[in-house]
Amino acid sequence: MITIDGSFGEGGGQILRSSLALSIVTGSPFRIENIRANRKKPGLMRQHLTAVRAAMEISLARVVGDEIGSTELEFVPGEVVGGNYTFSIGTAGSTTLVLQTVLLPLVLANAPSCIVLEGGTHNPLAPPFDFLVRAYLPLLKRMGVNVEAGLERAGFFPAGGGRAIVRIEPAPVLKRIDIADRGRLKRRCAMAVVSKLSRSIGERELKIVQRHLGWGDEELGVVEVERSVGPGNIVTIEVEYENVTEMFTGFGEVGRSAEAVAHDAVQQCQRYLKSDAPVGEYLTDQLMLPMAIAGSGSFRSTGLSLHAQTHVELIQKFLDVRIETEKHADGSETISIV
Ligand code: ATP
Repeated sequence: MITIDGSFGEGGGQILRSSLALSIVTGSPFRIENIRANRKKPGLMRQHLTAVRAAMEISLARVVGDEIGSTELEFVPGEVVGGNYTFSIGTAGSTTLVLQTVLLPLVLANAPSCIVLEGGTHNPLAPPFDFLVRAYLPLLKRMGVNVEAGLERAGFFPAGGGRAIVRIEPAPVLKRIDIADRGRLKRRCAMAVVSKLSRSIGERELKIVQRHLGWGDEELGVVEVERSVGPGNIVTIEVEYENVTEMFTGFGEVGRSAEAVAHDAVQQCQRYLKSDAPVGEYLTDQLMLPMAIAGSGSFRSTGLSLHAQTHVELIQKFLDVRIETEKHADGSETISIV
C-alpha cells in the first residue's frame, strides 16, 4: 500500500484529490495521513468528503476514515464503472474540484458516464466552471478525450446551489501532447458576470480591464445571470491562442470593491502576457495529471507554483513516469513527462 503524507509541499486538498484519481487509475491502494495539515481547518471538509465518496462510488472502493474532520484515510479501489452519477456537495463547495477527482478515472472506464454536479460552480481558490470549459477541456480533447460540460445553473460562493452536467466518453488511452509555444492570438475577451447584483458592478469592472489592457468595447461584455440561488460576481479575462486558451478570474465578495476584483484578474493576465510561455499557473498543476496518465508529454509553463511542485512528487509515487523540469533564462519552465 502506498503511504502519502498529506502535509508535504502544499499540504492541501489537492494531494488528497489527486491521490484518489491516481489510485483508481493505477488500481493501487493508498493510505494518506495528515490530510490538509497546512490548512486552517485540517482534515476532510464537506467538499473533500464528497470527493472521497465520489471516488468510492465510481470505483467500488473499500474505504476507512471517510468522515468529516478525518485526517487519515485508507482507500482500496476496485474496478472503475462508467455510468450515471450525481454528486451533490450540499454547500457552496466546489463542484469542479470534485470533478477533478473522478474525471480521468471515468475517462478510462469501460462505458460512457453522465455526471450531475451540485454545489458551487464559481468558487474562489478552485477552477471556475468557465475555466474548465475554455482552458482545460480543450487540452484534454487534443489528448483524445471527449468531455462535454454544460452549466444548468451557476452557483456562486457562499450560497452555492449550482448545477452542472458533464458527459464523458471513454478513451482507452490518452494521447501525448506537447505545448512549447502559444501560437497566434486568435481571440481575447473579458466578461464581468453578475448574479442578483447591479449591472453597474460589471460595468465598473470592465472599465478597469479596459483602462489597463487597452482592449476595445467589442472585446468586453457584462453577463447578467438569471437562474442562480444567491448573489455573485466574477470577472474573467480570456486569451485564446492557437495552441492554448488561458483564463484569469477575479472573484467578487462582500466588502471587496468591483475595482479590486477586476484588478486581481488584470494583474494575473498581465503577468501571463509578460511571459511568452503558453501554460499559466493553474493550468500547469492541472495539466500534469492527464499528461502523466498518458505516460508522456511536455509543456512550457510560466513557472511552477508550490502546488505544481507538490504534484510532481505525488504523481511519481503512483505512476511509473519521471517528471523533469528545466528552467529557462526567461523564467519559464519546461515540464517533460518521460
Ligand atoms: P483545500 O486544501 O482547501 O482543498 P487546495 O489547496 O487543494 O485547497 P487550491 O490550492 O486552492 O486548493 O487549488 C485547488 C485547485 O484549483 C488547483 O488545481 C488550482 O490549479 C485550481 N485553481 C485555483 N484557483 C484557480 C483559478 N482562478 N483558475 C483556475 N484554476 C484554479
